[in-house]
Amino acid sequence: MNQLDTDIIIAGGGLAGATLALALARTLPQLRVTVVEAFPLSAEALPESYQPSYDARSTALAWGSRLIFEELGLWQRLSEHATPIRRIHVSDRGHFGATRLNATDHRQEALGYVADNRWMGLCLMRELLRTDVAWEAPAEVTGMQPLPEGVRVTLDSQEGGRELTAQCLVVADGGRSGLREKLGFRVDEQAYDQHALIANVTTANSHDYTAYERFTDAGPMALLPHGSPTRAGQTAALVWTLDSEALDDLLSLSNDDKCHRLQQRFGWRLGRFIRIGECSHYPLTLKTVDESIRPGVALVGNAAHTLHPVAGQGFNLALRGLMALVEQFRLATEREQALGSLPVLKGYQNRHRQDWQQTVRFSDSLIQLFGTHVPLVATARDAGLMGLDLLPGAKRWFARQAMGLGGRRAEIRAPGNHSTERNHHE
Ligand SMILES: Cc1cc2nc3c(=O)[nH]c(=O)nc-3n(C[C@H](O)[C@H](O)[C@H](O)COP(=O)(O)OP(=O)(O)OC[C@H]3O[C@@H](n4cnc5c(N)ncnc54)[C@H](O)[C@@H]3O)c2cc1C
Repeated sequence: MNQLDTDIIIAGGGLAGATLALALARTLPQLRVTVVEAFPLSAEALPESYQPSYDARSTALAWGSRLIFEELGLWQRLSEHATPIRRIHVSDRGHFGATRLNATDHRQEALGYVADNRWMGLCLMRELLRTDVAWEAPAEVTGMQPLPEGVRVTLDSQEGGRELTAQCLVVADGGRSGLREKLGFRVDEQAYDQHALIANVTTANSHDYTAYERFTDAGPMALLPHGSPTRAGQTAALVWTLDSEALDDLLSLSNDDKCHRLQQRFGWRLGRFIRIGECSHYPLTLKTVDESIRPGVALVGNAAHTLHPVAGQGFNLALRGLMALVEQFRLATEREQALGSLPVLKGYQNRHRQDWQQTVRFSDSLIQLFGTHVPLVATARDAGLMGLDLLPGAKRWFARQAMGLGGRRAEIRAPGNHSTERNHHE
């Protein structure tokens, strides 16, 4: 394989691509890894320069994701700005059903965490700059041809087009760039006819580290604890699902009126809504592929599955998939198999498939179930929430999904044993 330019090319240095590069550098340092990223690398890409911003976008990290970041030696740094979720309150507005999940019931300090995406990006970049991972940025992967011993990948950058050969191309270009379509993957797309509105909000009462998942007749919403990890504050990260008309209507309102509308939808559990920050919004679709591999190519992250954000599962699922792929590369290296060979990549797909199908079903069924106005279904879902509260087995299952522990246990742990922060919380 030495005649190849590199071993693995990762198309996309977003959260999934950068985490994969770090996991490979930690687990298989003998492999040559090149990340191709469309955006330039920022010279100030260091956590030391980080100032939390009120308007930053954040991600809910499940407990299982913390375990993975611990194995990658990144958790200690990440946790400096990761707000713990100690309780989850799931309710159906206007109906009686509700369920509560509590970290202490699972003998854990948190069910999950909320971390700003920019902070996660800086922590990842800081660690990556200390490894031998090579970067091509700004540059885009524009195509790929299979070779008998791997793949030839076409790059486009300001200096013009060029080619790089590798054993395997990992596509981590997110849900929208379209590289997977260009490479012939069939994508199943289900539009929800809804948009997610994202903003940080200030409330009169402290969140006390509780995440609220609330299903309203106009769509689900989540309010996640945000801000200091050590002092429960009054900022929450809002994910609000709305149809196009309701979204346009909301965006046209003043700050006070937006707060008022939010109050009507959410209620008073967090007291009065005082301020709503910059609002961004995304059309919601469920995108999945039947097959996430081809000879020489594997899809990861949003390129493999884009979920509804209200259940906060997308990146958590992506992380488990990345660990499945790294484990497969580790086995292939041990067995001296080509990294891009079909049996190796099939192993990745098989390892990850059950988790991914189950997680897609879980978040999609939440949306379908709670999106309905049919009275019988509404009663059944309330009974379901009540039942969840009363039946420890069902509740435990639900909690494990929410904590990102529902998938195969093997993929929760990062492969290898390279941790400087080995987990002592199990
Ligand atoms: C509103 C919203 C809220 C969410 N909340 C949560 C949550 O709470 N918890 C959770 O687990 N998940 C959440 N998610 C999902 C999570 O954000 C995604 O799973 C995660 O960002 C996926 O990252 P990615 O690296 O796959 O894709 P992206 O973040 O889209 O990164 C793709 C990267 O590839 C680069 N790129 C694109 N095309 C090319 C190319 N041809 N060549 C080279 N580079 C290229 C881009 O510049 C980008 O840097 C949410 C998603 C949305 C939309």
